[in-house]
Amino acid sequence: MSHVFHRHCHHLPPTIASGNGMYLIDTQGNEYLDACGGAAVSCLGHNHPSVLEAIHRQLDAIPYAHTGFFTSAPSEALAEKLAELAPSSINHAYLVSGGSEAMETALKLARQYWVEVGEPQRQHFIARRQSYHGNTLGALSVGGNAWRRAPFAPLLMDTSLIAPCYAYRDQGPDETAYEYGQRVANELEAMLLEKGPDTVIGFVAEPVVGATAGALTAEAGYFSRIRAICDQYNILLILDEVMCGTGRTGRFFAFEHEGIVPDIVAIAKGLAAGYQPIGATLVTDRLYEAIASGSGFFQHGHTFMAHPTACAAALATLTTLEQEGLVDAAEKQGEALKTALHHQFDSHPFVGNIRGRGLFVALELVADKTSKRPFSSDLALHQTIKYTAMHNGLMCYPMGGTIDGKQGHHILLAPPYIIESTH
Ligand code: PLP
Repeated sequence: MSHVFHRHCHHLPPTIASGNGMYLIDTQGNEYLDACGGAAVSCLGHNHPSVLEAIHRQLDAIPYAHTGFFTSAPSEALAEKLAELAPSSINHAYLVSGGSEAMETALKLARQYWVEVGEPQRQHFIARRQSYHGNTLGALSVGGNAWRRAPFAPLLMDTSLIAPCYAYRDQGPDETAYEYGQRVANELEAMLLEKGPDTVIGFVAEPVVGATAGALTAEAGYFSRIRAICDQYNILLILDEVMCGTGRTGRFFAFEHEGIVPDIVAIAKGLAAGYQPIGATLVTDRLYEAIASGSGFFQHGHTFMAHPTACAAALATLTTLEQEGLVDAAEKQGEALKTALHHQFDSHPFVGNIRGRGLFVALELVADKTSKRPFSSDLALHQTIKYTAMHNGLMCYPMGGTIDGKQGHHILLAPPYIIESTH
């Protein structure tokens, strides 16, 4: 019997013993090729010496000091590095302990911005149906994953959900990919007009949808239209790059592919590559200055924010990504992975769609390829896929089931950027 409250009460997973590069090894000596980085976390693979050394050095110096009393050299250096990597208008990083905290921070920061500039009537977020932004109540409120939301629905903020950009399922026979992208982006404008633009805080989206829809990229022009609508109606654009950011798509930020700059962007999973828990909410100078020159205090915070050891691990991760050219590698290996998947699975009767960007790739599974009918929506299918893959020495990330009766299951592949074609 385990005293750990595991998320699956009736399944005790194997016990991890060690890791090496692309592989994890359990206490029984079984090796698993990590083809999903856990949940798109392990971008450097396992036991990378440069990150381990940075953590050891920081532990020897000072592992932790509360930010109410001190700042630290690694947190200052990390924020400076993130500002250097971000577009020129983004120069401030709020450092937290993970993805949900980063998104929770983003939502509260956006709300406080409007309070500071004298528009407290803005109380509403617009987000998208197939999306996930974290499991805390605020972040869950703006997520569209019906299964995750269901038990907590009465506790969630009222959020308006519009369609994501999901061409495989929704593009009409008479429209081009571009026209389709514009049509679904315009749902934001329609929703804004319905709600009243000056009641809305911002629009929340993942540039590439991760776990809920499986590496779902938007059609060209979709996000520029979204940015234009946010500007026209003066609402904030909040991007969630917790899963798709930190180089996974072949650019440090996934929004770079779209030619836009958000007002707020959250990153987390790959930031310290899993060696320490950390997330960050990056904001534009405009938002930061409104708070700095207003109340002068962001009314939010966590005990472990800007944790020095986590910041040291993140800094070493970013340095390693740069020194080893791993963001470019993610783009190149991602292309190789997609080509291999097409070769292997295009004619498979249950693989309806292969998609993604960089090393963020998914296969959507369907019971019938012509009608795109999904398998039934229970959890059993993706659990079976996961355990069968592990039994065969492979870690992949199956998710899904129908949402709105439309979406299939998918298998997400998000391997460390050190993967080579021979793995
Ligand atoms: N946002 C996205 C896009 C995610 O994929 C996740 C986690 O899967 C989160 C937020 C929440 O991050 P965390 O699990 O670190 O709290």
